[in-house]
Amino acid sequence: MTAQRRDFRIAILGAGFGGLGMAIRLRQTGVEDFVVFERDAEVGGTWWANTYPGCQCDIPSHLYSYSFALNAEWTRTYPLQPEIRDYLRRCADAYGVRPHLRLGCGVERAEWDEEAGVWRLDTTDGAFTAQVLIAAPGPLSQPRVPALAGLEDFRGAVFHTARWDHDHDLTGRTVAVVGTGASAIQIVPRIQPSAKRVTIFQRTPPWVVPHRDRPITDFERRLYRRMPALQRMVRSTVYLSRELLVPGLVYRPQLMNAVQKMAQAHLAKQVPDPALRANLTPDYVIGCKRIVPSNDWYPAVTQSNVEVVPGAVTEVRPDGVLGADGVVREADTLIFATGFHVTDMPFARFIFGRGRARLCDAWQGSPQAYRGAAVPGFPNLFWVIGPNTGLGHNSMVFMIEAQLNYLVSALETMARRGAARIEVRHDAYAAYNRHLQSRLERTVWNTGGCSSWYLDANGRNSTIWPGFTWRFWQQTRRFDEPAYVLSRVSGRGTGSQGRREAAPIPG
Ligand code: NAP
Repeated sequence: MTAQRRDFRIAILGAGFGGLGMAIRLRQTGVEDFVVFERDAEVGGTWWANTYPGCQCDIPSHLYSYSFALNAEWTRTYPLQPEIRDYLRRCADAYGVRPHLRLGCGVERAEWDEEAGVWRLDTTDGAFTAQVLIAAPGPLSQPRVPALAGLEDFRGAVFHTARWDHDHDLTGRTVAVVGTGASAIQIVPRIQPSAKRVTIFQRTPPWVVPHRDRPITDFERRLYRRMPALQRMVRSTVYLSRELLVPGLVYRPQLMNAVQKMAQAHLAKQVPDPALRANLTPDYVIGCKRIVPSNDWYPAVTQSNVEVVPGAVTEVRPDGVLGADGVVREADTLIFATGFHVTDMPFARFIFGRGRARLCDAWQGSPQAYRGAAVPGFPNLFWVIGPNTGLGHNSMVFMIEAQLNYLVSALETMARRGAARIEVRHDAYAAYNRHLQSRLERTVWNTGGCSSWYLDANGRNSTIWPGFTWRFWQQTRRFDEPAYVLSRVSGRGTGSQGRREAAPIPG
């Protein structure tokens, strides 16, 4: 049915944890008039796109699922990418989302039509309209590849970690890996044994802590299948234990000392060579960048076929890579583990609100939103995990579900109040963001002495939620109507062809 239609009440952009979750919640509340656009061939978002060797979530399995769809089948205490991908596919089937999906269809432009009161969407499958646009493109979806001189003349294979080339066998290859973030840490131990040589270009060393990953036994899985309450209990315990990091991350970075000592001991134990150890020791407070768990990163980089070159890559040559030390290391494969466009939110370049204002121009390099969802001047547009909803310590699925509650409540309010338009008030938006920024001032992300993708081009933290995650859940439990202007519409015409005027609904 969705295949034929072009005009919808709601359009969801993206079918990762956020967009898929939104679709499920809409169906659960009886809303069927919606479409989900997904540029990839399947649902899953980041867990569909990232297929690199060793790809695994660093949040424990029992917490990394929707609260309404626990998964008793996880095979490890930290979930592997194929298992998360399959879990999300099962959710799409089980919750009847498939008929609403337009897979392989990317949204290239979204423009608010003030007269018709709809979003006009240009997609790779043509034009659509929707009264409400829900943007769930995910913060980690657009690979970032540095603009390096000589890159186009490189004679070997080049790819980003999120676009892994499985046809390119790395056995016997001379591989250069740029970056030492969460992705590189997982990849290098997998490729090092078969590669001839691996050169890692490390601009900033990460803090690495011991990994608690282990297989989940058949017996445990049987227990969880029979006793979902037990799995819920484990889930709650994991959630609460992760929240214990919040006082150190948000209020008193000194409290992170104990975690930093644990990471130092891990490094000392796994890397006996003092020179290499010094090279791998971060110079910022732990938590400032994402803390990565791994038991095999340090052992891998101590192998004789691995070299860690300090500093950024400066140039690419046809047969190698030039490091900051002025030495060219030979390479026939170049892997960019250089992360994603996060704070520059690429999709904001293609969203045009009232008066054709471009969202990225409104933000001027510092994305912000009210409750991570709404922006003035962009009526009937909501983000799922928009600005300042990110976490370094706990499950994003928790934040996503909190935001879904909020959006479902917003849509219900619109329907109940007969509103055709909804827009956050500028004063509520400004006050909310002022408060967030003042809370961020003392956090480890702002004061820990590192530069990370949490900070935007203006040096402002537009990524992280500064507090306990249950506070966000509390704040988004119900739609807070006084922060918004709701309008009814009068005039002639219906659907996308209408020409109508909006009249505010008194609060
Ligand atoms: P990332 O954390 O942004 O790391 C990018 C790396 O590339 C950094 O080490 C960065 O150095 C380096 N880099 C960038 N440009 C460079 C250049 N020109 N020369 C040399 N080095 C350069 O990216 P990621 O590892 O893909 O991870 C992104 C996020 O995805 C993570 O923070 C996490 O949220 C998520 N993730 C999670 C998991 C997991 O759950 N296990 C796994 C993978 C990813 P600087 O540090 O100096 O900027």
